[in-house]
Amino acid sequence: MALSGGKDSSVALSLAHRNLAPRPGVRLVAISVDEGISGYRTRTLRAAGTLTHALGVEHVIVRARTELGTTTDGLARATPGTPPCSYCGVWRRQLLNRAARNAGADALILGFNLDDLAQTVLMNLVRGDLDRLARMAPHRGVTKALVPRLAPLDQVPEREVFLYALRAKLPFDHAECPHAGRALRNRFREIVWELESAHPGTRQSLLRARDRILEGRSAAGTAAGPSACLVCGEPSSGGVCRSCEFLRAARTASILAGPA
Ligand code: SF4
Repeated sequence: MALSGGKDSSVALSLAHRNLAPRPGVRLVAISVDEGISGYRTRTLRAAGTLTHALGVEHVIVRARTELGTTTDGLARATPGTPPCSYCGVWRRQLLNRAARNAGADALILGFNLDDLAQTVLMNLVRGDLDRLARMAPHRGVTKALVPRLAPLDQVPEREVFLYALRAKLPFDHAECPHAGRALRNRFREIVWELESAHPGTRQSLLRARDRILEGRSAAGTAAGPSACLVCGEPSSGGVCRSCEFLRAARTASILAGPA
């Protein structure tokens, strides 16, 4: 389970603990990533620790500082022109996958809700990036290096997840990342919300559109699986993975040792 300490992943963990943990042969491990965001991640990690302790779930914290040698804050200071979410999200996904693989996980459960996924579909469609659309959770296939990601809250609107978290008295944290104001997603959140208000069902329609596009690609045999990054060997859409590209930027900015 990916666990940030926010409402979505806390609800996903709480429901998985209730519905999956009692089954024989199931082992739940919560994985949190500390990207190194001052004044923010410490709070959410504290909430994550409170929840896992209350549920009795094993909790692994993976730190970007230790695993990558740099942090989101560090690269944000060194490269003020680049939106931090671009590398922060890439690093988090890679660290989550690696930690899930190390834990021997069959699946990585994410807390994405209906609103999150509808925004991501629209962002990828606007970019014309069908490969990235195909890489979205939930994953349909299994590859050795990439632990399949599942999104069991994908049909649940964000507001309902929030209400559930409140009603279940989950110890989640409302803190907003200090870099969030620069995220491209903000604009798409507004657009999806405007469309949903004017045309209820837009969010579900976007997810259905994604499914139909992927079915078409699968039938046409144009769906390509990940290859291994030429530098780190982690799953990549081709050549050098984006995580390594951003680490190269960190070396160029002299905040990480090694050749740029
Ligand atoms: S808002 Fe952006 S920078 Fe902040 S944690 Fe999320 S992806 Fe990282």
